[in-house]
Amino acid sequence: MSHIAVPIEKRIALVAHDNKKKDLLDWAEYNREMLKEHKLYATGTTGRLLEERLEREVFKLQSGPLGGDQQLGAKIVDGEIDSVIFFWDPLQAQPHDPDIRALLRVAVVWNIPIACNRSSADMIISSPLMAEIYEREVPDYESYRQRPIEVESEKSMIYSN
Ligand code: PGA
Repeated sequence: MSHIAVPIEKRIALVAHDNKKKDLLDWAEYNREMLKEHKLYATGTTGRLLEERLEREVFKLQSGPLGGDQQLGAKIVDGEIDSVIFFWDPLQAQPHDPDIRALLRVAVVWNIPIACNRSSADMIISSPLMAEIYEREVPDYESYRQRPIEVESEKSMIYSN
């Protein structure tokens, strides 16, 4: 297990499905002052709406269905996102469901805090840990990387016997 020192200015990713965009915008506006302390990233449409509502800069990726969730996932893997606020819609299937699942999965793989509804987003944004350097544990995947893989073909096994 190793640790990464997450700086005081966190890099927060915000994503909301269409039926949840209003909720996320209202939440972000309510928490505007606290969010000022942090850098914001978002999928395309969520980011554009956040910029209008908060009158501040948001780093915008592609729209979610066009690959934005995958871009966020890649940023998590590269250590460039410290927290995800993702208001996904539990009542409607999305064309990019596999990407959504992948984003949620990769956040768990790298131990990134992720909030999927308003109350958990409230908990994350109001945590005292947001205002300090946080030593985030990073699971040790070395034994996974070094796992034994049988690559010898049957043919060569026959020859070698
Ligand atoms: P959007 O994408 O912000 O571009 O609408 C959100 C999503 O569905 O992942």
